[in-house]
Amino acid sequence: MTVSTQNNTYSNFIGGQWVSSSSGDVIKSINPANRNEVVGYVQNSTKEDLEHAVAAAKKAQIKWKELSGAARGQYLYNVANVMEKHLDEIAECATREMGKTLGETKGETARGIAILRYYAGEGMRKVGDVIPSTDNEALMFTTRVPLGVVGVITPWNFPIAIPIWKVAPALIYGNTVVIKPATETAVTCAKIVECFEEAGLPAGVINMVTGTGSVIGQGIADHSDINGITFTGSNGVGKRIGQAALARGAKYQLEMGGKNPVIVAADADIDLAVEATISGAFRSTGQKCTATSRVIVQSEVYEIFKEKLLEKTREITIGDGLKEGIWMGPCANESQFETVLSYIKKGIDEGASLIYGGEEFLGSDCENGFYVQPVIFDNVKTNMSIAQEEIFGPFIALIKVDSVKEALEIANDVQYGLSASIFTTNISHMLSFINNMDAGLVRINAESAGVELQAPFGGMKQSSSHSREQGEAAKEFFTSIKTVFIKG
Ligand code: NAP
Ligand code: MG
Repeated sequence: MTVSTQNNTYSNFIGGQWVSSSSGDVIKSINPANRNEVVGYVQNSTKEDLEHAVAAAKKAQIKWKELSGAARGQYLYNVANVMEKHLDEIAECATREMGKTLGETKGETARGIAILRYYAGEGMRKVGDVIPSTDNEALMFTTRVPLGVVGVITPWNFPIAIPIWKVAPALIYGNTVVIKPATETAVTCAKIVECFEEAGLPAGVINMVTGTGSVIGQGIADHSDINGITFTGSNGVGKRIGQAALARGAKYQLEMGGKNPVIVAADADIDLAVEATISGAFRSTGQKCTATSRVIVQSEVYEIFKEKLLEKTREITIGDGLKEGIWMGPCANESQFETVLSYIKKGIDEGASLIYGGEEFLGSDCENGFYVQPVIFDNVKTNMSIAQEEIFGPFIALIKVDSVKEALEIANDVQYGLSASIFTTNISHMLSFINNMDAGLVRINAESAGVELQAPFGGMKQSSSHSREQGEAAKEFFTSIKTVFIKG
């Protein structure tokens, strides 16, 4: 067995071996809670490295697809067990690499393990239907076949769960994988790949190549031997990948940004709405694609909601997510930190009122990290940039409305449509929200950021390429349907 790391430098994983890049160059990964701390180094890979990985995946796919679904499932069960053994180590690495609290990364690792088990079971579930032929001496049915080699490109905000929710279904349906993780969290991905190795997956079934988006990500999008690309990340990059895939006839799936609203109706349970808004907006420092960023409140309860929101926000403890008692960690990197600060300035310039956050945050051990306070703006109008653009930080824009009908119009008045919540006790408001809210995930009396692994996940409008991930829906992307007609 080769080793993934030497002197804190992680290799690529290609054809079952840990290998250095032909560039001889590495990229540093730092801790956003303390920018002087190096978490590790990863390979700054070249197109040549990617070529080796794609060739290994292509070769391995021939045998991998011939295994039964149950046999492939057994491998995934083994990976889940190995990962369970290393849960604390993986979670700690993710916290050090991108800043969210240890409680959150432990929960995310446990979610990754549950996803592996869910898809392991999927290897024994039905893949097709029998369709009555007009010829009653024939049998007609559908079956499914893998795409071949799948390219997986992931973001840094869920460094454990997103790679697994793409890789596990890709593998169970008989594809092999080349994964390029976000550079920001590539060490965490190496730790996940180590679990696949320890579980004994055949060489070449999963390959990891780290490096820049413009070289390795774009290389995956353009590679003629990669038959499907699954991407989660920003809209700009997603669209470019989609265009490259379309141009060469490859299948693609894009999950992108959000500007997710919470509506608080006059008849809502206000304490519940406050609790869920804080969790949805500020957990993971607001860096979830499903995070709450607009809170649209009916005028009758606006002041009381705002007061309670401020009161609870003041209780949030900020600091290094590895420490006990910390509720919110830093932004994941300098550019996210700068983005949050720039939107505070934009909000003020556009005439909204900053009512929480915005001062430089200097807690006891915070001077070396990318820390911001939660941000709350009052008097926000729907056409302001803080009400339209994804910020990806702990940032709430409060909007006052006269009716639930007006709230829904404003909720839909953005280019995104990923998730949305309403807090109400009125069944007509609930039904109207279910029917009229343009979002892939609509939640009632629950925060915008909850996702369950067995249910389809994805967005409407600019939030996705209109496919769905997770649950049974993953089958639609990771396989092709074949219609079979047999005449006896
Ligand atoms: P990003 O900059 O788009 O990066 C995502 C991935 O794409 C990274 O692996 C990145 O590599 C790679 N990449 C960058 N440039 C590329 C190119 N030209 N060609 C191919 N790949 C390229 O996004 P991010 O900043 O990591 O993540 C934040 C975004 O993800 C937010 O917009 C958020 O809403 C979205 N997100 C969406 C969901 C969802 O399910 N809808 C979930 C989580 C996050 P490097 O890291 O090396 O640059
Ligand atoms: Mg980092």
